[in-house]
Amino acid sequence: MKNEKKTVLIVDDSILITERMIPMMEEIENISFVVHAGSYAEGLEILNQLTPDMVLLDINLPDKSGIDLLRIIKERRLEIAVLMISNHADQYYKDICKKLGARYFLDKSTDIVKAIARLSQFYKHESCGQCTPCREGTGWMWRVMERMVVGNARIDEIDSLEDVTRQVEGHTICALGDAAAWPIQGLIRHFRPEMERRIRARTEKLAAE
Ligand code: SF4
Repeated sequence: MKNEKKTVLIVDDSILITERMIPMMEEIENISFVVHAGSYAEGLEILNQLTPDMVLLDINLPDKSGIDLLRIIKERRLEIAVLMISNHADQYYKDICKKLGARYFLDKSTDIVKAIARLSQFYKHESCGQCTPCREGTGWMWRVMERMVVGNARIDEIDSLEDVTRQVEGHTICALGDAAAWPIQGLIRHFRPEMERRIRARTEKLAAE
């Protein structure tokens, strides 16, 4: 059924990924619960007991390759959506996973702050300028995000950035304003330590020069 809640299995030994990915997934309305396995063996054990709707699967597991687990999942249940998450982002791995039936491939090495800044640039470009919060806000958010990428900001500007997203969200004629605000809010909610790390690293570097 269309509105049925989904079960997600995450098979990944990276603490960083699971610590951030699990709360993010749990916030999604149509996900009922998220199960975590830290190895191929654990993943297989869980798959023997339940059939998830979606599997987020790392290639580089401590005991065996996630590609072997992908093969088993697809042999058993073709309909399970599998999203591969890996640092092995080259085409060779993407092709293998796609051939075996993985639906998506997520590159773990993606610079998340840069990715959100790129989204901000997109929304600034797409804003038609009809309403002030979107016209002014998207440009402002993009410029601040560009500085956040290289840590060229003060820590308190993270809060200012979030304040501006709240002033844009829900105050525009069409949904583009919300769409521009939400990714930044998600970034601050889940990756604030990374934003702060960049600011501190740049400040220390400048002080040492
Ligand atoms: S929110 Fe929509 S209508 Fe308003 S400026 Fe942005 S794109 Fe235009």
